[in-house]
Parts: sequence; C-alpha cells; structure tokens
Amino acid sequence: MDTADTDPPRWTINARVETLLLGASVFWALAVNQRFFSGALAGHPGSSLGFTLALGLALVALHFLLLAPFATRVTVKPLLALMFVATAFAAHYMNRLGIYLDPSMLRNVLRTDVREASELFTPSLLPDLLLLAGLPLLVLWRVRLVRRGGWTSALGIRVASIGIAAALLVGTVVAQYQPLASLMRNQKELRYLVTPANYLWSMASVFGREARASGPKTPIGTDARPGESWHHSARPRVVVLVVGETARAANWGLDGYTRQTTPQLATLPVVAFRDVTSCGTNTEVSVPCMFSALGRRRYDEDTIRGSESLLNLLARAGVRVRWRDNQAGCKGVCDGVPSETAAAVGPASLCPDGHCLDEALLTGLDGWLAQATGRQVLVLHQLGNHGPAYFRRYPPEFERFKPACRDEDLRNCSREQIVNAYDNALLYTDHLLATLVRTLQAHADRVDATMVYVSDHGESLGENNLFLHGLPYPIAPQEQKKVPMVVWSTAGGSLDTACLGRRAALPASHDNLFHLMLGLLDVQTSLYEPAMDPSHGCRRDVTP
Ligand SMILES: [Zn+2]
Repeated sequence: MDTADTDPPRWTINARVETLLLGASVFWALAVNQRFFSGALAGHPGSSLGFTLALGLALVALHFLLLAPFATRVTVKPLLALMFVATAFAAHYMNRLGIYLDPSMLRNVLRTDVREASELFTPSLLPDLLLLAGLPLLVLWRVRLVRRGGWTSALGIRVASIGIAAALLVGTVVAQYQPLASLMRNQKELRYLVTPANYLWSMASVFGREARASGPKTPIGTDARPGESWHHSARPRVVVLVVGETARAANWGLDGYTRQTTPQLATLPVVAFRDVTSCGTNTEVSVPCMFSALGRRRYDEDTIRGSESLLNLLARAGVRVRWRDNQAGCKGVCDGVPSETAAAVGPASLCPDGHCLDEALLTGLDGWLAQATGRQVLVLHQLGNHGPAYFRRYPPEFERFKPACRDEDLRNCSREQIVNAYDNALLYTDHLLATLVRTLQAHADRVDATMVYVSDHGESLGENNLFLHGLPYPIAPQEQKKVPMVVWSTAGGSLDTACLGRRAALPASHDNLFHLMLGLLDVQTSLYEPAMDPSHGCRRDVTP
C-alpha cells in the first residue's frame, strides 16, 4: 500500500527517496559540471565518448553515495532544497570567475563579511538561480514521497541502491583506469570542479581543520630576545608594516607597468622589490603564511594555524605591537595582540556608513609617532584593491583612468574599464603609502622609522577569462602570485637603503618577510635565517 505525505495536490510526482537522489545527481552531472567535463576532455587523447559517459556515470554515482547516508523521508527534501540553492551559487561563481572550490577558497568564502559578500550579489545571478535552483525546487515541491512495504524492505532497498552506486563508481574507475589516473596526476585541481562534491568536501575539510586548530596555539621562537643594538641606540624605532590587498605587480608603476600607478612613491626615496612571489593566492592562505616562519618553502596549513605568529614572537622580545584592520580581520595572526578596526578609529568623513577608505588607517598616526618610545610595530591591514568593486576602494578624485568599471559584475564592463578601476585603486594605495612615508619623515629627527609594504596576493583581470584570485597555487597564473613590495626608511637611520636597494634586485617572496622584520627590529631568535633577510648586512647598528 502507498503511504503519502499529504493529500495529493493537482499534479504530483510519486517518487521514492532513492529516485529523488538519483534525479538530483543526474541533474547536477548535466547542469553544473561543464567546466569539469571540458577540463577532463581537454587532456584526453583520442575518442572521448566512452570516457565522457564514464565520467558522467561516476559523477552521478558519487553524488548519490554522498547524499544517501543522510537522506531519509524526513530529511531528503530540506537537504536537497538547501543543496540546490548552494549549488546554484557555487556554479554561478565558478563559471563567472573561473574559480575552483577547494578548501582554501571555501575558507575564504566562509570568512567573507557581509560587506564583501554583498558586492558579489549582482543581477547576473538571477538567471542561474532560476534555472539551477528555482526549477529543481519547483519539481521538488511537487514530489510526493512514497514507500512500499515496511521499514525492513525500505532498508533493503537503500542498502541495495548504495551497493549499486558503489559498484558503478568502482566499475567506471576500473574500466577507465588509465585515462583517469593520468588525469588525476596531471590535473589534480580538476576534482575541485566536481560540483557539488567540491564544496561539500572542502567544507568538511575546513571544519575538520578548524576543530584541530581550536586549542591553544603553539608558541614559536620562545628564545626571542632583544639584540645588542637595543642597548646602545636611544632613538625610538618604529616599523610600520602595511599588508596590502589584491595589488598585483603587473600593474604597479614602480615595477615597470606602462602606466604610472605609483606617481607619488616614484618621487620618494623608496626601495622597490620588483620580483616578489606571494605565499598564497588568497588572503586566508597568504596572511597567516606571511607571519609564519614556515612560509611557502615549508608550507603546512595546520601547523601555521595552530602556531603563534611573528607578532607574538616580537611581543615576547619586548616589541610593542599593534594591528589596525580595514578588512575582515587578521586571520588569527593578531591573536593576543592589541588590535583595532579602522572603523573604530577613523573619522566619519573617511568611513561613511561604517565602511572606511584605507586612509582611515592613518588616523592619529602623528600623535602616536610623537609619543613613540622603545621598539614598536604597527601593522596596517588594507582593503586595498579588494574586488570585484574596485571603484568603491578610492575617493572620486582618484578616478583618473577613465572610463572606470562602476559595476560589481565585472562581466558587464569592458576589460579596459575593469583595468581602469583597478589602476585607480592602486593610485589610492600609492597615495596612502606616500602619505604614510611623509608622516614618518616628519618625525625623522626623533624616530628611526621603516615602512614595509607588501601585498598579500595578486589578481586576475580577465586574462584567460579569469577574474579575481584564489586559484589553487600550482595552477594559478603569475598575475595572482606576483606582488608589489616597497620599503622606505628614515634617511641616515639604522637601515642603509642604498644597500637594501641592491638586494631588491634579487627575487624575493613572502618567506622573506618574517626574517626581514626580525632583522629590522634586531630581535634575536634561533628561527632567524640571515640569508632570508634582505636587510642582513645593510643595517648600520649591527656588526655583521
Ligand atoms: Zn587578500
């Protein structure tokens, strides 16, 4: 006998839980995996019909297996409804921006604040939401779940269906073993295009790591202590580290871009490192990595997240550290360090509706320098060139490259407009850094100051149809990995900038930052590697 959820409406589809799961799995395989298929087939020589069918079958079986353990007559509809919506969003951004939903991208998505997220809601979402979520939801709404027989036979059917799906998955893998194995070897990142398994897997991975890293952080550099120079230099020493956002070297005037996007810095005696590689391609990877001793050379996400940062080490040695943020937080690197937001300190004129332009980061700097004593580090975390709304990152007077894209949906703008808006935002960062340098310069008679600026990662501006950033590191283009880095120091101070300028001609990376900061502040620890510190041998108060 049939048992129904409710009285049958005018038109209904009678289906078992298993049929529903199968339908959803087939729908996803056909509707949201085009990039996976085209990527897989691009690397497949010869006839591809059998291979395509095998891949399709494997996708259906995989998604059926993933959902079957959680789908009951009570849970299947809410579960599928949620997943239709989430998958529609995932597919939209994957196709629009060329992104891969790997764990690091998902961590970035989960940590995004409301302001950042709201800039991604654009009208182009609507067709995808209607087609990929609206349509299946409509069908789901009309489905009447049926069950034939008692719970033992229901259990039997479920176990059998799982068995068949598993057999199909294993069968296709065995049948296409050669091409699949070479695919997984050569294009590992393709698995992050399998939708919706990609975000389910990435979410589980992120939460798993979060749980493991939730305990107290492992101290680093417990032997950190003040160097010799602390005892014989009486002047206060200040390092202002500006952590940039999404600025890429390719568009940086000082790095040889055809456009002058750094007109103010170009007139100042700054040292530009012209070949700097970032640790990651998104903030969630790069920022913790920049403040760790491991860096990209020995990158290990769990260890980095589970350990103290450079800032904790500096504080232990006696450096006074402060973090000031104009973004969605410091990604754990300022835990245990005094920190504040630009919105909390900035004037209303720079922070309309609570969202600040980066100049708010400089609020009160003059007074702070006037009272500076000992050794201090101030970290300024910029909003920089955070996309896609580059045009919101600068005040109107910096709209010098025109016409600039003024649409959050970059696909509605020409490439020229996108680059113009992006370059205008760089002009504003140039202004911020030059203002900072001039402020530090004004206190040169009393304070020995150094400014270090380095961006966290680069950005794609439509090259190869890629936008924004966050591609898996091994396949990310140079535009996302090459970043500007600039150092300025008080003339005649502890740092010989002419010497540093010669070092700046060599390739550098985020891995150098940890050691550079230790060198500039003369903090001694066994973690310090002189060869990794570009300022080593360029400091006047330290005998090499
Ligand atoms: Zn970033």
